Amino acid sequence: MHVVGTAGHVDHGKSTLVHALTGIDPDRLREEKERGLTIDLGFAWLTLPSGREVSIVDVPGHERFIKNMLAGVGGIDLALLVVAADESVMPQTREHLAILDLLKVKRGIAVITKRDLVDEDILGLAQLEVEELLDNTTLAGSPLLPVSATTGEGLPELLEAIDRALDETKPRKDVGRPRLAVDRAFSISGFGTVVTGTLIDGSLRLGQEVLLTRRGKPGRIRGLQTHREKLEEARPGTRVAVNLSGVSTDDVERGEVLTSPGWLHNTRAFDARVYLLADVPRGMRHNLPVTFHAHTTETAARVRLLDRDVLEPGDEAWAQVWLEEPAPLVRGDRFVLRSSDATLGGGTVVDVDAKRHRRRHAATLTRLETLAEGSPTAQLVSALEAGEPANVATLARRTNASVADTTELARQAIAEGAAVVLGQEVTDASLLYTAKGWAGQSGRAQQTLAAFHAQYPLRQGISRQELRSRLGLTGATAQVVLTHLAASGTIVDDDAGTVRLLDHEVAVSAEQQAAMNTYVAQLTKDPFPVTAPSIAAGLLVLLAEQGRVVRATDGVVLEAASYREIEGRIVDHMRAAGKATLADVRDLLGTSRKYAQALLEHLDEEKITRRVGDERVLLRG
Ligand code: GDP
Repeated sequence: MHVVGTAGHVDHGKSTLVHALTGIDPDRLREEKERGLTIDLGFAWLTLPSGREVSIVDVPGHERFIKNMLAGVGGIDLALLVVAADESVMPQTREHLAILDLLKVKRGIAVITKRDLVDEDILGLAQLEVEELLDNTTLAGSPLLPVSATTGEGLPELLEAIDRALDETKPRKDVGRPRLAVDRAFSISGFGTVVTGTLIDGSLRLGQEVLLTRRGKPGRIRGLQTHREKLEEARPGTRVAVNLSGVSTDDVERGEVLTSPGWLHNTRAFDARVYLLADVPRGMRHNLPVTFHAHTTETAARVRLLDRDVLEPGDEAWAQVWLEEPAPLVRGDRFVLRSSDATLGGGTVVDVDAKRHRRRHAATLTRLETLAEGSPTAQLVSALEAGEPANVATLARRTNASVADTTELARQAIAEGAAVVLGQEVTDASLLYTAKGWAGQSGRAQQTLAAFHAQYPLRQGISRQELRSRLGLTGATAQVVLTHLAASGTIVDDDAGTVRLLDHEVAVSAEQQAAMNTYVAQLTKDPFPVTAPSIAAGLLVLLAEQGRVVRATDGVVLEAASYREIEGRIVDHMRAAGKATLADVRDLLGTSRKYAQALLEHLDEEKITRRVGDERVLLRG
């Protein structure tokens, strides 16, 4: 399904043409009827000679209603630029064309109406003027067709031309993220709230939960219609009327965006490529207050120029647009900027998650350039730079592409060496880094470990927990990153929970080795000395890490084999007696209260025993 929109100066015959083509009078409001003027949007539809059904949005041509025109022209596939043969190009012909150009509407037909009112010469002149006007716009080279809505001349040819133009128009993509920019909201008694708009980027189904994004109001789809026909499912590129339950008409107005919950959010500031029309009287200075229009949304805004102080007519620049009322936008959306009485320019949304940038910051400008114009994989990498690591689903949202397309692009970026996936395969959930980001992350991990090894040469490694916190890694990401670092051979993440550099070896001098051996020998000889032998703290930690000694509580250290033997004796005793007191253990081992106490506390910590009152019982049989 396709949507066709009219454009052109007031009284040039738009509504009459739509009526002649469709049999539907698009001037639906009585006020408009009386004044003979389309002030709001008109809607009609027709079946073309090929059997293709199209929707028509008829927009007002009066300069005072440009904002209504703007609300209607978003999301159209084909524009009919209507110019009356007797008056030829007029101010709103120019302004509407400029808006179509800014919104990058690529297909159009120039319809020269009121053919019956002029002779060949005047018609020829009008055609020439229109042709010249279209030059240097997205509609350059569009067909020109003279018609008369009064006599019917040229109408069959126009229908065929519409068919041909739509043959070349790609159907709207379904990227699984439906957006319906609301252009009308009203209530029908017995049904409740109805909103209408052009559906893009996804489908809507009967019964589906939806969200009115700007106000954050949830609702459910109770009915769907297109061209007065009931639907189970509406596809992208369709004019749709949605009957909502759970939403009152007070909750919704033109400018709202209806979508599926969970992915779209309001943005207050976004980065954009901004273009100033060539025929505006003066340049646009930094921070200029303007009116912002995108889809059916309209709000006051300011344009922060990022790469200059004044944007000259006909020129373009990088800018950050700050909206007075936040609006839901996605990357690639087109918008128009107006002053109180004239269209100034417009642009393309490049990044909706924009932070406040410093002006004239080279790295920011380069990133924006790549985001806007780089190869598809370069754009993906730039989107990743906005926050990494990120998974495919998040990136799909950032780039407004489908998850399947993003997965494919991610694979290409990895093959090109521009991105890195943590794990073997790229799936929706797998984490991606830019090559640079990963090099940075892995470099930080190596530096952290190297610094740790330098500070504690006698330790095998840093605890996993400590490393995570030093690298600022949290949650599930942390483990994936450590696993990938280990898999890529950068680090060794051992089972005991210590992490070290692959080539780290504990450096013990002959002297230190001798001290350690003497210490262990002393402990072996007398497990319960009155005065405990001493050793440097670092060497003691190393002995414990090596498993040669066991550190009980209160600074009590035992040689590993003696400890195991002692532990066995206590456990055997308790198994026989069912329990043991401190005095029992002291007598059993023929040692002091201090040692018995330290050993029992250690057994409690190891979850071998448990304290019940003054006694210990075994935790496992
Ligand atoms: P809009 O403001 O562009 O929608 O213009 P309308 O459709 O309201 O037309 C303005 C006036 O021009 C009306 O009085 C129409 O009857 C008249 N008109 C429109 N098309 C033709 C045409 O092809 N021939 C003649 N003679 N008059 C036309």
